[in-house]
Amino acid sequence: MEEQRAAHPTGRSDDVTRRRLIAWTAAAAAAFGAGGTLTACSSSPGSASAPPPPSEGPSDSFSPTAPTEPPGVLGLPDPSASPVAVRSKPVFKVHDLLPNAPSNAVALTIDDGPSRRYTPEVLQLLRKYDVRATFSVVGIEAHADKDLIRQIAADGHTLANHTMTHPQPFSRRSEAQIQQQIADTQSVVVDAAGAEPKLFRSPGGDWSPAVFAAVAKYGMTPIDWDVDPRDWSRPGTRKISEKLLAAKPGDILLCHDGGGDRSQTVEALRTVLPALKAKGYSFVTL
Ligand SMILES: [Zn+2]
Repeated sequence: MEEQRAAHPTGRSDDVTRRRLIAWTAAAAAAFGAGGTLTACSSSPGSASAPPPPSEGPSDSFSPTAPTEPPGVLGLPDPSASPVAVRSKPVFKVHDLLPNAPSNAVALTIDDGPSRRYTPEVLQLLRKYDVRATFSVVGIEAHADKDLIRQIAADGHTLANHTMTHPQPFSRRSEAQIQQQIADTQSVVVDAAGAEPKLFRSPGGDWSPAVFAAVAKYGMTPIDWDVDPRDWSRPGTRKISEKLLAAKPGDILLCHDGGGDRSQTVEALRTVLPALKAKGYSFVTL
């Protein structure tokens, strides 16, 4: 067996977390205020150990609603409460994670939000077509828009941890930085939605043994994707739609509601959601 049980890490105090969140806020505000950027998720499926492809292109401009206030109540989840086995690769297909899902199941995953501009539009479309999705949220965005996090959860969607500031390449961060990004995002989502994410998506699908170990330590399963319309690069609504409509049963679809201009993504979903349902697919959350 190559899998091993994660060690139980030590807990940390709320005070430490509070100071750290304030530091995240200051760091993010400084970086974005200076024209900092965030590269959206995108890589080829199955490239867990490979560097990002050169075609990934320039970073998207990232326009967060920068948090200006320290959080109120902070409850850092105890990572020792639900350790899981350390995996050596992420989940690429629905049935790898959910073997009992319907054979025609697909999973829509929506990354890099929440965004005040686009997330409400996406949520409205999901409601209209009775689709549940998995939202991989960025910690500083979640902290800035807790109401959106609560709305996502209230609508029956699943929340996944997508790091605090979406650093790339994530796997090249130190083990301490990887753990900090993961732990603090857990804390922010718990604070907003009251429940710990059980799923983790690495920025850019960039994985390493240290990332897998940290993910397991916090009781999460690493998830990737196998249909990537590269919507973050704004290739046009038609191209995004064509790629998503080519999904096969069991596919995990990737798109974005945050991190930049996602108007093409929203327009694509407007037609893709009813079209995939008409083809008989069942949307499941991961
Ligand atoms: Zn991302």
